[in-house]
Amino acid sequence: MSEANPCLSCGACCAHYRISFYWGESSEAPGGYVPLEYTEKVHQHMVCMKGTNSYPPRCVALRGEVGKQVSCAIYENRPTPCREFNEYELDGTPNMRCFKLRGIVPPATI
Ligand code: SF4
Ligand code: SF4
Repeated sequence: MSEANPCLSCGACCAHYRISFYWGESSEAPGGYVPLEYTEKVHQHMVCMKGTNSYPPRCVALRGEVGKQVSCAIYENRPTPCREFNEYELDGTPNMRCFKLRGIVPPATI
């Protein structure tokens, strides 16, 4: 596993996928934490991060330049898909979608 966090300079996944999630995570719902103004409705039960449901997608919370230096304006309150999408899976295997987006081959795992 790499030592530096590549997400600090990457941001590719924040500008590639539609980041959709259960509406109950938005601050519109009791206990919700993703700021409502950063979301838009997908359908009755789902919302997505604004900016990711159009082409080219780019989350409105993404700051900086993809591939150079980026940050998330709502990092502490980002939705579940963002929390669960990382360079490596929980079992330590490479997240192939992440590596593919970055155009690099993952290191061999034991
Ligand atoms: S999870 Fe992967 S694709 Fe997303 S910002 Fe981090 S390194 Fe880039
Ligand atoms: S909420 Fe943050 S981590 Fe999630 S897609 Fe937007 S910028 Fe990326």
